[in-house]
Amino acid sequence: MKKTIIALLTLAIALPVYAEETITVYSARKEHLIKPLFDAYTEKTGVKIQYITDKAAPLLARLKAEGANTPADMLMTVDAGNLWQAAKEGVLSPVQSDTLKKNVPEHLRDPDNRWFGLSVRARTIVYSTERVQPSELSSYEDLAAPKWKGRLCLRTSKKVYNQSLVAMMIARHGEEKTSQILEGWVNNLATAPFSNDTKTMQAIAAGQCDVGIVNTYYFGRLQKKDPEIKLALFWPNQDEAGVHINISGAGITQHAKHRNAAIQLLEWLSSEEAQQQFAALNMEYPVNPKVTPDDLVASWGKFKADDLNVALAGKLQTQAIKLMDRAGYR
Ligand code: FE
Repeated sequence: MKKTIIALLTLAIALPVYAEETITVYSARKEHLIKPLFDAYTEKTGVKIQYITDKAAPLLARLKAEGANTPADMLMTVDAGNLWQAAKEGVLSPVQSDTLKKNVPEHLRDPDNRWFGLSVRARTIVYSTERVQPSELSSYEDLAAPKWKGRLCLRTSKKVYNQSLVAMMIARHGEEKTSQILEGWVNNLATAPFSNDTKTMQAIAAGQCDVGIVNTYYFGRLQKKDPEIKLALFWPNQDEAGVHINISGAGITQHAKHRNAAIQLLEWLSSEEAQQQFAALNMEYPVNPKVTPDDLVASWGKFKADDLNVALAGKLQTQAIKLMDRAGYR
């Protein structure tokens, strides 16, 4: 009897541990965007994935409060500004992985390897095809010119997407020029800033304004609902730094209990096998340069993207908020 128990115990210890493991992910990316990939990964490897979804800020607060007791192995969130913040708060741990270095271009990951981009989102100009000719458009900066007076709609400066956009403008132009651009934008506003990108586009479609700045996947969602919508995307700054891009991404938590298994999942998410779907589920662009975007996303055309490291969006976030506040951009 005793021998049998010992034999069973030995057998249990000898079994590969990873197949028994359950990884826990805290995700600011919504369930319908991650579940299909997690299910595919479980089917492939036997590794189970638990997740909770919430907004970025509460997830970070929760990770901090839980400290060493957190069940989370991975934090997945959107915007380099948020990932940078999480790293700064000390909840993410560096990962040395040749696979991640190979799959994720250098400017789309943390220089200290605490987070890695998994999809790229472009924040670009959207315009009314009824009232604007694309030839009238050129750059984000040009939206500050007097010709756009009363014709511009923007989303609130409280949203991290705009803080990141402005942070990258500071990186390119410095504070003084960025301030002038922000003042020009505020002067040109047709109405008070909107709470989200979709409302911004609906205002343009309704004739309340003519141009705006939005993330392309929101445009995609609107286009799917109403293929006849009289809006189009424009790729600005093509003779300069390029379109402002940002990422969704993930990092391994400081107190991960299943660190190696979580790193393997992260590597897989960056792989050619997973990237098409990861990006396509939210109409974004893959980070892995070997993978092409899905058809609808590709139909918006190719563009040159800014290649500054997205970590600057976090580093310059406080300055960006200050400048937007001073310019009266609410
Ligand atoms: Fe979004």
